[in-house]
Amino acid sequence: MEIKVGQSVMELVEGDITRQDTEAIVNAANTSLLGGGGVDGAIHRAGGPKILEECRQIGGCPTGEARITTGGNLPARYVIHTVGPVYRDGLHREPELLASCYRESLKLATAKGLKSVAFPSISTGAYGYPLAEAAIIALRTVKTYLLEHPEIERVRFVLFGQAAYAAYAAALKEL
Ligand code: ADP
Repeated sequence: MEIKVGQSVMELVEGDITRQDTEAIVNAANTSLLGGGGVDGAIHRAGGPKILEECRQIGGCPTGEARITTGGNLPARYVIHTVGPVYRDGLHREPELLASCYRESLKLATAKGLKSVAFPSISTGAYGYPLAEAAIIALRTVKTYLLEHPEIERVRFVLFGQAAYAAYAAALKEL
């Protein structure tokens, strides 16, 4: 499923982020940038040790910010590592921090002159962010960014499993 946003396209697919041929893929990392489970583990497994070496050099990333490395052995040329908020009750700046992850990741893509980026559903795995709420924030933030930055031609949300895809599809219809 895809929609036009200004001159750009926002797209939802069900699948595995490590297989995407966009110029960059985004990693749902943790503040250490030294790897973990979920998307993070999958990206480092598929991308090889080069990515972890670059992450080590960077030395960490605060919640809500993003850092960029090369893509190692991945089809994508770059990995943008962003750290989503751990969800507590929604009253600890989680919405603002989650929105910041999407925005800061896209700013790095713009700075590198990239035209296509794939995102996973940040914070909705180990970090416990409710899917429906996270989906609305993700889609709204990316849409706003694309309207101001037509140089990014395509943003793809890669949803892992049917439930995640359904949540994002419902949120996209609400947008
Ligand atoms: P976080 O710690 O930010 O919650 P996780 O990696 O635990 O990050 O989960 C984020 C989301 O990514 C979850 O919805 C999870 O199902 C999904 N996910 C896990 N593996 C992959 C993958 N290979 N590609 C895309 N999404 C994935």
